[in-house]
Parts: sequence; C-alpha cells; structure tokens
Amino acid sequence: MQKFDLIVIGGGPGGYLCAERAGKAGLRPALIEKRALGGTCLNEGCIPTKSLLYCAKQYQAALHGADYGVTAENVSFDHAKVVARKDGVVRTLVRGVGAAMKAHGVTVFSAEGKILGKDGENFTVSAGGEVLSAPRLVIATGSSAAVPPIPGVKEGLASGFVMTNREILALQTQPKSLVCIGGGVIGLEMACYFASIGTKVTVVEMMPKIAGNTDPEICDLLMKTYRKQGMEFCLGAKVEAVTGTGVVYSDAAGQHTVPCDRVLLSAGRRADVTGLGAEAIGLALERGAVVTDAQMRTNVPGVWAIGDCNGKLMLAHTAYREAEVAVGCLRGIPDKMDYTCVPSVIYTTPEVASVGLSEEEAKKSGHEIKAVKVPMLFSGRYVAENVRGEGFCKLVYDMTDDRLLGVQMVGSYASEIIYGAGMMVQLALPLEQLKKIVFPHPSVCEVLREGLFML
Ligand code: FAD
Repeated sequence: MQKFDLIVIGGGPGGYLCAERAGKAGLRPALIEKRALGGTCLNEGCIPTKSLLYCAKQYQAALHGADYGVTAENVSFDHAKVVARKDGVVRTLVRGVGAAMKAHGVTVFSAEGKILGKDGENFTVSAGGEVLSAPRLVIATGSSAAVPPIPGVKEGLASGFVMTNREILALQTQPKSLVCIGGGVIGLEMACYFASIGTKVTVVEMMPKIAGNTDPEICDLLMKTYRKQGMEFCLGAKVEAVTGTGVVYSDAAGQHTVPCDRVLLSAGRRADVTGLGAEAIGLALERGAVVTDAQMRTNVPGVWAIGDCNGKLMLAHTAYREAEVAVGCLRGIPDKMDYTCVPSVIYTTPEVASVGLSEEEAKKSGHEIKAVKVPMLFSGRYVAENVRGEGFCKLVYDMTDDRLLGVQMVGSYASEIIYGAGMMVQLALPLEQLKKIVFPHPSVCEVLREGLFML
C-alpha cells in the first residue's frame, strides 16, 4: 500500500490544479487519471474547440480579405490538417501538465481510480494494480456528454453516424452536412466551426431560443449572424428519432426530417462518477452529481468534490477555482466558492461573454437597476478592425447599492475583456471609483469605460 497526504481522482483542470497546489503547499499528493492528463478541457473540450475555431477564423479572413484590401486566390481549407494541428496543440499542453505535476512532487497514476473504503483514518483507493491510502480524498472525475433516450441515438453512436464532442473533434473528414442536437455553447461552437468551413449545419434546439440563458438581445444578434454564415435553426423542436440518414423532430407545425451526413449530440453534460465506488464510503449524490457545500466538502468528512462532477457550473475556470478552495480548506485555510461572478463565454464569431446578472435577472431579483447598452462601434479599434459589426456591451448597475451587477457583451475580443468586467462586479466598487480606471487606447475594452460614464 502506498501512502500519501492526499489522493486526487481525475486529472482534468480541477484535479491537476488541485494536485499541483497541494504539492506546492508541501503535501504529498497522488493523482489518478484513467485517460489523459488535462481531462475533457485539454483533450476533447475547451482547447481543441478553440484550436479549430481559430483556424476557421483564419480561413474566413482569407476569404473575405478583399474588405480589408487583401486579396488571395485559391483559398482552401484542409480539415484533416487543422485536426492534426489541433492534436499538436493538445499534445504540447498535456505534456506541460505532466511537467507541472513532476515539478510539484505529484505522483501520477495512469489508471482508473476506484474508492475501496476506509482503513482507520485513511481512505483506500485502487489505481490499476496498486492500492493507495491517504487521509484526504478529492474527487474530480468530470463529466461526459449526456445521451438522451432518443430512438436511434445509441445505434448512431455505435455506427459513428452520431458523435459526441469526443468523436467530432477527432473526425478526419469534413461532413457535407451536420445536425447539432442542442443549441447550447458546445453545439454552437461546433456548428460555427463547421458552417465556417462550408458544411451545411442545422441546429435543432428544444427551447424557443439558442444559447441557454444568454441575454435575449444577444441571442437575436447571434441568430442573425449565424444565419448569414449559413446555419439553419429549428427552435422549439423536439427530436423524436435519429435514423441512419437524418434527424426527425417535431414542432408546433408537425413532424419534419433533416437529412444529414453526421449528427452531433450536444444536449448537455452529466457529472461522471461511474465506477468510482462512491457507495464504498456512502458519498451523497444528487441527480448523479456529488453533493458539495461552498467549501467543496462532501457529506463524508475528509472528502471534497470539485469541477464538473459536482454538477454546479460546468466550466474549466470554475473547476480551477474550486480546486483552490478545496486545497485551502483541506489545509485549514478558510475559503469558499462564489459562483456569482464566474464569467461565461461562447467562442463563436461573434464572441459572447457575460458575467454577473443580466438586466432581466437583476429586475427579477428585485434590484433597482439602471442598464445601458454601448455599441462596440464606440471603440475606435473595433471600427478599425471590423468592416461590419453590430456588437454591443450591456452594463447592469444597482442604483441602491452603487455597484455593477453584471456585464454582457457580444463582438470581437469579448472573451478577453470580460475578466475586467468580472473584477468590477466581484469587487463591488462604487461607480465613481470605477470611472477612475484608465483603459488602454485604442482598445475594444474601452466600451466598458463608455458604459460606466453612461450610467
Ligand atoms: P474533466 O476535465 O472532465 O476531467 C475529469 C478527468 O477525470 C478525465 O480526464 C477523466 O478521464 C478522469 N476520470 C474520471 N473518472 C476517473 C476514475 N475513476 N479514475 C481516474 N480518472 C478518472 N469550459 C470552459 O471553461 N471553457 C470552454 O471554452 C469550454 N469548452 C468546452 C468545449 C467542449 C466541447 C466541452 C465538452 C467542454 C467544454 N468546457 C469548457 C467545459 C470544460 O471542459 C469542463 O468544465 C472542465 O473540463 C471540467 O474539468 P474537470 O476537472 O471537472 O473534469
């Protein structure tokens, strides 16, 4: 039996950062990963999608360069090369995680971790042929694509006609047509990539709008822009079946079939604790996810759960912060998780980013607010770089408490700007103090400054 101070199960952003921080603090952590270090984020999520989307953006820039005085002939796109480049990016980053584990004294086990139970004060976990023990355990097993019980989906997954994020990111040949079941962030990012490179894309979404709880005005602009890019949308549409050649859905007008080459299942994610042995220590689960409090503690003393597996807010940066909270708490340093200022981003063209409350949410929760909308065209840099562009930024301000409640933006650089808005919301500084912040000029983030002076 190998003894450690801490065992972490799952080597995604939550797990690897937790192990790294614990090692840095002088603990002896073991990290168990059954597939690849970096988890969903590095191998089949955040990074691969952004790598593909960047290449598609380059392609579009080459195609439409004439608007900027740049003409290129015989512009072509090689999807297989783009996937190979993406694989290289992933390899580099996964290697980096491996090096960070080594540098921080983390012992990595490439195996499936299964909780065996307790031996006195210590938890015992099997990892391949080894048994590990430690007084503290962190569960960071992540999530997997939800597979709804739609007739034909299981068969489609088996034949390769239906894909999850895992398979589509490894697809070597570009499909001529693609149906995305689900118009949330994952579906839209993949739809945007494939539509940009010439695949005929249809998004079938059960709700009357795309992009989850994104600001309705932003959704309208997204739909308009995506449609110009060639995407089609079936909203309020319930998928009834997947046949070998298409997707059958019903809406208020009746039943329809969309023929296609491939189907992407992007209908949400489920916390993944299958085969973990949660029952061996009586770990409480709710709808398949590990129940945690604000310190990431589970119902079992000495066990924490971070990242997607607790089902709270399935984002890599949430997992990072939860990892830090858990490491602080298990070392006796008070800390707690605050989900109110976690930014969220859709990395399509245009980009969408938001943090805090939207105008609608703020009103619903009884705040006395003032909301302003600033066109991105107020930024000199935005005008210099965008021949067309209808992006905007919304600021939601609490007049009683004199603080910013939320910011939503759509347009280029939104993903890079939002952390600044997040700081303003999180630090809850009075408006007069926010107005004293100096912004670089020319920059698109200046729309935030414009907004502050309009409040
Ligand atoms: P994961 O990254 O899922 O890692 C969990 C790890 O645990 C996996 O490697 C798994 O193999 C391992 N594991 C599971 N069970 C065991 C076991 N029993 N033993 C050993 N190992 C085990 N988030 C963002 O913030 N920004 C984005 O742009 C973004 N884009 C995304 C795009 C896609 C297509 C997808 C699918 C997700 C995206 N996400 C994004 C979400 C993000 O990937 C997750 O929120 C994040 O990876 C969660 O981290 P985690 O550590 O909790 O879990």
